[in-house]
Amino acid sequence: MTNPNAPLTSPRIDTQVERNHVPCNLCQSENRQPYCPENGRGLVQCLNCGLVYVSPRPDPNELYALYGETYFKNDDDGTVGYHDYIADERNIRKSFNRRLDRLHSFIQPVGGNNKLLDVGCAVGFFMDEASKRGWQVAGVDVSGFAIDYIKGRFGHDAYNLSILDETPFIEGSYRLITLWDVIEHVPDPKGHIEQIARLLQPGGIVALMTPDVQSLPARLTGKRWIGYKLSDEHVYYFDVKTLTRMLNEAGFDVVDVRHEGKFVTMRLFLDRLGFYVPWLARPLQALERTFKLSEQSTYVNPFDIVWMVARKR
Ligand SMILES: [Zn+2]
Repeated sequence: MTNPNAPLTSPRIDTQVERNHVPCNLCQSENRQPYCPENGRGLVQCLNCGLVYVSPRPDPNELYALYGETYFKNDDDGTVGYHDYIADERNIRKSFNRRLDRLHSFIQPVGGNNKLLDVGCAVGFFMDEASKRGWQVAGVDVSGFAIDYIKGRFGHDAYNLSILDETPFIEGSYRLITLWDVIEHVPDPKGHIEQIARLLQPGGIVALMTPDVQSLPARLTGKRWIGYKLSDEHVYYFDVKTLTRMLNEAGFDVVDVRHEGKFVTMRLFLDRLGFYVPWLARPLQALERTFKLSEQSTYVNPFDIVWMVARKR
């Protein structure tokens, strides 16, 4: 019998599983060199197009097996997944509303077709906020736990699939498709973008966010960049150039590029600050306790997560 008080460990890929080299997902080149090897994450950079990725690596089934319940709630230090994603609902919804505000300057849910597909929808908070604003939402995620949660709590249309599987989604039927912190996790990002191009109607919008490996914070902090902490789950590291090329080749024109932040609790913000500046960690914790700041919400933008919006030609 399992002990209910035992710590919930985060999901890990067994170090013994077979790992194979993969060609560059963007340009198919096999020419690569180690990238930031001192972080120990097995990253390489394509010598042809500059894409940074993990190679060799386990096959897609091993990667997808990470996203069970413990991905969304575990007692580890955030090496893989979240400490408690659902408990952070209020901040996550605030971040999604900020993104919807900005997206609505490019496309709005007016008349006729209001179909939105959220790829990698997690437990459905974005879908739920978008539906309140008039979008007819559907979501897809490889996490069976997440899809069951959505169906049980919200009743939104949600599918336990990858969009590269045989799906019920109709080509040319969507106006907006979103990928929040998803493209860096999937084994075939270019396949995802091409499939999204097929699912969107002409003039439809794809919007995504992903860590930017060439951002100033990533370059300044080197091997200590927080983005590298999550390498079991992150198998691609994009930047503005590689993302733009991928979108252009799939038939999109990029219409908006910026670095976007998130609403987080003060506790998480101070933890992250302490991660980069260890000698500040204890004074920050004292400050947090003294002023009871832990659960306060604050918008933080470290300018290392790129936001991109693109329109299907
Ligand atoms: Zn390449």
